[in-house]
Amino acid sequence: MNELFRFCKNLKEEHHSKKPFDKDKPVSFWSEKDLLNGTVVDAFVMILRTRGCTWALQSGCSMCGYFNDSALSSVSSDELMKQYTAAMEKYTGQPIVKIFTSGSFFDECEIPVSVRTKILLDLAEKTQKIVVESRPEYITDETLSDVTKLIRQKTLEVGIGLETSNDFIREHAINKGFVFDDYKKAAMLLKKYHCKVKTYVLVKPPFLSEEEALNDGISTIQAVASYSDTISLNPVNVQRRTVVEHLWRRRQYRPPWLWSVVEILKSTKNLVGTVRIQCDVTGGGSIRGAHNCRTCDTGVLTAIRMFSLSQDIHVFDDLSCGCKEQWLDQRNLESLGFGSCVDFSGEMR
Ligand code: SF4
Ligand SMILES: [Zn+2]
Repeated sequence: MNELFRFCKNLKEEHHSKKPFDKDKPVSFWSEKDLLNGTVVDAFVMILRTRGCTWALQSGCSMCGYFNDSALSSVSSDELMKQYTAAMEKYTGQPIVKIFTSGSFFDECEIPVSVRTKILLDLAEKTQKIVVESRPEYITDETLSDVTKLIRQKTLEVGIGLETSNDFIREHAINKGFVFDDYKKAAMLLKKYHCKVKTYVLVKPPFLSEEEALNDGISTIQAVASYSDTISLNPVNVQRRTVVEHLWRRRQYRPPWLWSVVEILKSTKNLVGTVRIQCDVTGGGSIRGAHNCRTCDTGVLTAIRMFSLSQDIHVFDDLSCGCKEQWLDQRNLESLGFGSCVDFSGEMR
């Protein structure tokens, strides 16, 4: 057990005394825009409250605070179906449905096979594309053979949180608990069953400088392009009770600059062919999320949203702000010091 594994584990143990959730209600649900076969459509998103990600219950990833929303105790099949039904009462026929669990949809400890079967049979009747997420270890021949029979001709997209193609960073900065080869095997298995692969790439894991994070994002996108239909770039936001929050409170971590996100998108779009790159900046523009300065955050975030739907890097052409110099300075100077540069733009919020 290494130090990071132990630290991630301890952060959760301190949290076990929190008050219980209503297990009949999902965490949340909403409608958002997404692309389906090149057209912008509405997508219905729900987050089910399961007992929690099995990896998070053992230790967990250094940036992930999803366990804050998990029941952390058993959730029955009946309760899970009540959550699903409650969310689907607000469903209005969107052609994409995304079901997230803050863990792995294919982990039978989170979603029993009977519940998975009922949900997929129901969605196969109602929507065109179903999106779920899973760690690679639950993406097996047996599971994919089962689920692809249930959804028949409908599209199934599976998101895998690879985060980085660099095994050293994934082990020592993220504590992800699997290696790049595990991801590759899972992605190839998904292709065998004609499922779509969405790869999540993290922007700025803890312990990396801005420049290292930028380069890691670019090299990861290049490394996963041939395995992915969609690459989802996820800039870190500082979530409660995580290693990232621990460092951030001590001014040893700054969330990524939006300029870095733009740079990664611009540098990689022309290298990945028809693979779609999208970016959802959770908490963007806030002190805990990816941000530049107050003056330009909104404009840059709008451009990133437009890029995700259009795939056109020219949306970034007219962006400029005085803070770009600070970002360039940080990239040049950070490697000369020890630890992260002070977040001057954060200080002013
Ligand atoms: S990032 Fe995914 S695998 Fe890691 S702890 Fe969170 S839910 Fe589990
Ligand atoms: Zn600015």
